[in-house]
Amino acid sequence: MSESTRETIFALSSGRPPAAIAVVRISGPRAGDALKTLTGKITPPRKATLAQIRGRDGEAVDQALVLWFPAPHSETGEDVAELQLHGGRAVIASVFTALSQIAGLRPAEAGEFSRRAFENGKLDLTAVEGLADLVMAETEGQRRLALRQMTGALGNLAENWRTQLIQALALVEARIDFSDEADVPQDLVAPALQITRALEGEIGAALADDGRGERLREGLVVAIAGPPNAGKSTLLNRIAKREAAIVSPYAGTTRDVIEVHLDLGGLPVTLLDTAGIHETDDPVELEGVRRARERASAADLVLWVVDARDNPNGLSTAPSCLAGKASAGSLVWVLRNKIDLVQADRLRSENKCQSNGSNESNSQFTEPLINKVNRQLSYTNEFEFNANELKFNVSAASGEGVDEVLAQLMKRAQNFLAGAESALVTRERHRRALKDVHAALRRALALETARDEDLLAEELRVAARALGRLTGRVDVEDILDVIFRDFCIGK
Ligand code: GDP
Repeated sequence: MSESTRETIFALSSGRPPAAIAVVRISGPRAGDALKTLTGKITPPRKATLAQIRGRDGEAVDQALVLWFPAPHSETGEDVAELQLHGGRAVIASVFTALSQIAGLRPAEAGEFSRRAFENGKLDLTAVEGLADLVMAETEGQRRLALRQMTGALGNLAENWRTQLIQALALVEARIDFSDEADVPQDLVAPALQITRALEGEIGAALADDGRGERLREGLVVAIAGPPNAGKSTLLNRIAKREAAIVSPYAGTTRDVIEVHLDLGGLPVTLLDTAGIHETDDPVELEGVRRARERASAADLVLWVVDARDNPNGLSTAPSCLAGKASAGSLVWVLRNKIDLVQADRLRSENKCQSNGSNESNSQFTEPLINKVNRQLSYTNEFEFNANELKFNVSAASGEGVDEVLAQLMKRAQNFLAGAESALVTRERHRRALKDVHAALRRALALETARDEDLLAEELRVAARALGRLTGRVDVEDILDVIFRDFCIGK
């Protein structure tokens, strides 16, 4: 046990006060002493008990429900006391003061409870990550994915794979160790290879998931881009129904990327307002532009907003000048915004009896527009103007057409994230570890095994170690800090 785990930690595990209830957890060898100091007794294990909480000077601070979980049957695997206080700031402050004065107690760091649970074998790393994701889940889809992971969908499977690998390894090692002895069966390697082949198939299948799990964790990323003043920020505000972006009639005022998280039918969609994308010499704006481009170019979908008045015919099918330059990249939907103004103009011209019917049917990509878009899209090669891109007429100001965009976005999210809730791999870290396992197994299978038993054993060892990294059994010190620092205090 390391030095830090011998200290007793405490933290507010519930949300920001004031609240009806505040949950304070205490974990470590002195948790029992702390409970006794505060309540005058150790309450029966795992039974909610009403108790008077007293401060350092013996004054009653609160009346609270108290739970006592003696080690090892607690969330952290240590002695844990849990106080369900009334959630007022003064109550919590007073209890914290009393706890701080007890020798050997200190406030917990972010993620420290979960870290102790991991160190005491209560959770493997994938479960810890699932727990973190469950706390952060914003949509039903993300919640389901996180819960599956927290309860061992990946961790148990990885452990099972590791056990099989170790069996295969044991067979090969037996063959090496006893190769001189006549009564050792010659065919120890064959069953080892059979296990290896089966695992290579299973792990390959888990990896061939198109990155769905990572996508569901992160959501469909949609960048709102287009020339200044086209109405991007107004559109974002309309969609977010709150003042997330600065709406201004002046070009280039939105310098940074603004993010809005949406829940579309249980699926996560992140909208990025990249209003800052335009030509500029201002160094501050340049940085905004650079960041906006970076985010936009990594987006799964771009809503390219144009002013319908500058684009009377809309962007029709893929403008060849753009498609030619496009590398694999985001899908683009074109939103002709400010359609209210076009309609007003049309009404005016109709009043003058100059109406010549629909101008949508024979839409052509006009030369001036090509030049304009090319100028705006000096980073065009990051976008793919897809031949079956969608086009919308919208008014961010009045809201006209925006529901249709959202309906299509939801469809897109459904397709994009189909089947993702059952994905096993939800992070790059998992993917990297599993790829290492898979590569080692493939190398093992490619060996001339009759002669290369030592090499075979080594590849199986490499594979088992990579699986151990996935669940946190080996080599993990360096990644622990990264994982646990994303936790909140009290978790
Ligand atoms: P951005 O630079 O692309 O983010 O553009 P803004 O959202 O800041 O909008 C620029 C100007 O156009 C603002 O004055 C908006 O009020 C106006 N605007 C945006 N969308 C519409 C629309 O659909 N109709 C009308 N009439 N004005 C709009």
